[in-house]
Amino acid sequence: MSSAVEIGSTSTLTVPETEARPRPRPDGPDPVNDWLCAWCLNRVASERDRLEQQGQSEFVFKNPDGLLFHIITFARAPGCRQMGAPTLAHTWFANHAWSYCLCNRCRRHLGWFYTGPTEFVGLIRDRITRAVWMLS
Ligand SMILES: [Zn+2]
Repeated sequence: MSSAVEIGSTSTLTVPETEARPRPRPDGPDPVNDWLCAWCLNRVASERDRLEQQGQSEFVFKNPDGLLFHIITFARAPGCRQMGAPTLAHTWFANHAWSYCLCNRCRRHLGWFYTGPTEFVGLIRDRITRAVWMLS
């Protein structure tokens, strides 16, 4: 009781073209690393741009009004715009003058630009959100 099954036709398998793994462009969407404005979800910074100051990239500071800010430092924040003239008054980073850093879409205050011996951006942790967290 053997039965040979013959597969008559040559089935044409469509071979997927070379699987192009999406490689994030330097300024393209990168959901794993992007940080977004918490209000308008504008891409404002990338986890890849995290910049350490004195061995850390997250800080908690108190402003002259006694408000606590948890900030994360980045080398750049392409989705932000600078506002105001840099000043050293009450600066949290010695010799670094700060100016305001606003979301360039909704204009909300997200943190501060720092300029001095090094240039970086401190974004307020509560005002930004990871794109990857939005996917779940
Ligand atoms: Zn925004």
